[in-house]
Amino acid sequence: MKILIAEDEPSLRENLQWMLELEGFSVQVARDGQEAMALALRGVPDLVLTDVMMPNMDGYALIKALRANSGTSTVPIVMLTAKADRSDVRAGMNLGADDYLTKPYRREELLEAIRARLARSADLELESQRLQMQARIAQQRDALTSLPSRTLFGQTLEDSVDEGRISQTPVGVICLGLDGFSKVNDSLGAAVGDMVLCEVAQRLYQHMRTELQAVEHEAVARLGSDLFAVQLTGGPLGLAELGVHSVRLQNLLSKPFEVEGHTLFLTACAGSSLFPQQADSAHALLLNAESALHHAKPGGPGTAAVFDSAMNQRVARRLLLHNELHRALEAGELQLHYQPQVRLKTGELVGFEALLRWKHKTLGWVSPAEFIPVAEESGVIVKIGEWVMETAALQAAQWLERGHTNFRMAVNLSVRQFVAGNLTESVQRVLADTGLPAHMLELEVTESLALHSVSTTLSTLHACKALGVKLAMDDFGTGYSSLSYLKRYPLDALKIDQAFVRNVTRDAGDAAITRAIVAMAHSFGMSVIAEGVETMDQLDFLSSLNCEDFQGYLFSKPVPPEEAEKCFGGFTRTQAQLHLNI
Ligand code: C2E
Ligand code: MG
Ligand code: MG
Repeated sequence: MKILIAEDEPSLRENLQWMLELEGFSVQVARDGQEAMALALRGVPDLVLTDVMMPNMDGYALIKALRANSGTSTVPIVMLTAKADRSDVRAGMNLGADDYLTKPYRREELLEAIRARLARSADLELESQRLQMQARIAQQRDALTSLPSRTLFGQTLEDSVDEGRISQTPVGVICLGLDGFSKVNDSLGAAVGDMVLCEVAQRLYQHMRTELQAVEHEAVARLGSDLFAVQLTGGPLGLAELGVHSVRLQNLLSKPFEVEGHTLFLTACAGSSLFPQQADSAHALLLNAESALHHAKPGGPGTAAVFDSAMNQRVARRLLLHNELHRALEAGELQLHYQPQVRLKTGELVGFEALLRWKHKTLGWVSPAEFIPVAEESGVIVKIGEWVMETAALQAAQWLERGHTNFRMAVNLSVRQFVAGNLTESVQRVLADTGLPAHMLELEVTESLALHSVSTTLSTLHACKALGVKLAMDDFGTGYSSLSYLKRYPLDALKIDQAFVRNVTRDAGDAAITRAIVAMAHSFGMSVIAEGVETMDQLDFLSSLNCEDFQGYLFSKPVPPEEAEKCFGGFTRTQAQLHLNI
């Protein structure tokens, strides 16, 4: 501990120095305020003892200077005053001195005052560290809702899990993801979206406080834009209880939101996980709850899922595919198979749909139903999609050169390719490079297009159309069908989803939908192509509706190019019959 003494009286100064050094302090001495200030600035002391009356710069001036300097502003100062005049003392204290002693003082008195000040300053030091810590924690809060961020939530969760491990009590985490929240932002603006998020935070927080008496202040967090999490501790908690809590939280968020004169109805998906049954650390607990949420989402709005270990395997598989897909294209592991499209009334071949196939060097065949969503998620579908278009167009151009005419080549487009922004240029380039006449290329789009900015998708569709290519709506009837876009999109054909075709002969509802789709498409001047036709009965039913074309296993699966070329002769019912018998 370093003490600085400012005292002009030599005998007093030496006496003080000697006394304090005996007590183990390291002491510096100054003959006036000026000297003391210079010493203090060179190395900040732990305490300053100062006389009041000194030449050059007196004690008051020294106190003032010490307090004014940021380096010394908090150093404890004890005044040594010869006068017991209260007004002098008050003047010093007002300037920022912490204590005073009246000369002559006893040794014990002096040591007591010094120790008390040093102890107090150590407390202050701790307090300021605590405040700094608090400020740091405050930064770990989400600026919009003031809820803990992921980091802070993770820390408190770690504490809870540590406690749970000791007391052998479970800890649960529920992640909640708002469904279609981006639509709120897109249609009503980010300001309204923000208000909704704040209200969500408020509801969750209140619920945890009142219903669950959550003592833990950090029991609710905002992990991402529309992603929230709560932790459950204490009380009996099993998977069943966790499920009940999930539903209650979901119900809480399904109550209408009144924002800026709008009444909004939202839903949330939930994913949950439990320590110690399903995770052995806070990190794993949160990760597993998120993974469960990830798996709940495809189940549609308002779905809830509890973590199971197979989910991790699925996540790991997706990750593997994600990494491998980037390599697959360069490594030449992707190929196209072609499925014939047939005119229903005559059996003649009218086109092919190009379908991606991936043979991984160790995993073997990976189904497009599995890897396309992964490719979409990572965005690599844009590059892959271009390759598909090039390869399919080149194949079609080669067949054309070999004398096969009157057919179209259909390729599937991902919404991502529209959003990427250069689709029209790609199409144009592919046509120019391959020499394929534009009307022989058909682009299959899906209804999820309707979820994106109408003006950009519309202008891209029209631009493609202007190039002369054909446009078809794939998987019609399963997505976000809306009659209004059907009218506005320049489509040539609708493809009825196989889900309807599968049951047309068995399910009156599916038959009615199929009939309605065909009638509607015709009234808009579009032709209809049925997907997934597997039986003669389905074929006959579709024929009775005047559906134009179809594709399906009844005549042919998607096949490699050499086999596909054999289909140019068309198909007969006898062939189909034979096919069915094999
Ligand atoms: P899709 O475009 O609706 O393709 C039709 C799917 O139905 C193909 O599945 C095809 O093999 C299958 N199929 C055809 N006839 C029958 C039948 O009679 N019965 C049954 N049960 N299924 C039939 P596949 O090849 O597994 O492709 C699945 C989906 O992957 C495609 O659905 C498409 O959405 C996507 N996809 C495939 N290739 C590409 C591509 O190059 N780009 C993009 N963006 N998506 C692609
Ligand atoms: Mg398709
Ligand atoms: Mg389809």
